[in-house]
Amino acid sequence: MSHSCQAIVFTCIDFRFHSAIRDFLVSNSLKDNYDLVSLAGVTKGLVEGDKACSEIILKQIDISHNLHGIKEVLLIHHLDCGAYGGHKAFDSLAAEGEKQAGDLAYAKELIQAKFPNLDVKKVIARIQEKGGENLIDFEELS
Ligand SMILES: [Zn+2]
Repeated sequence: MSHSCQAIVFTCIDFRFHSAIRDFLVSNSLKDNYDLVSLAGVTKGLVEGDKACSEIILKQIDISHNLHGIKEVLLIHHLDCGAYGGHKAFDSLAAEGEKQAGDLAYAKELIQAKFPNLDVKKVIARIQEKGGENLIDFEELS
């Protein structure tokens, strides 16, 4: 293999998160060490059984695995995701976080059924607006 990297990262398309996600990945020793896929809602389509979306996700993992020898899949969901209807679609932040955690867990199961040798990590990004700026923090779920 001529070149390899550690991970494939799945993020939402949401523009508010890109620089924070990049910083997060750099601080987790993944600088220039990951393949990147952006999809609205990240794994929402996979979890809901959307055939086209599932194929895209699994195909990108397969290519990344074969081409770059990745060891892990990083799924980065976020709160206030438009694909889920944003904050307003949920009664509380806790309920929103639970829905995202549940979808991440199921997505991990579906991905590992196909790629049992890959480590699948689940991350949730939270966004808060303060003084006209978006503050974003990340939590890796166990
Ligand atoms: Zn989103």
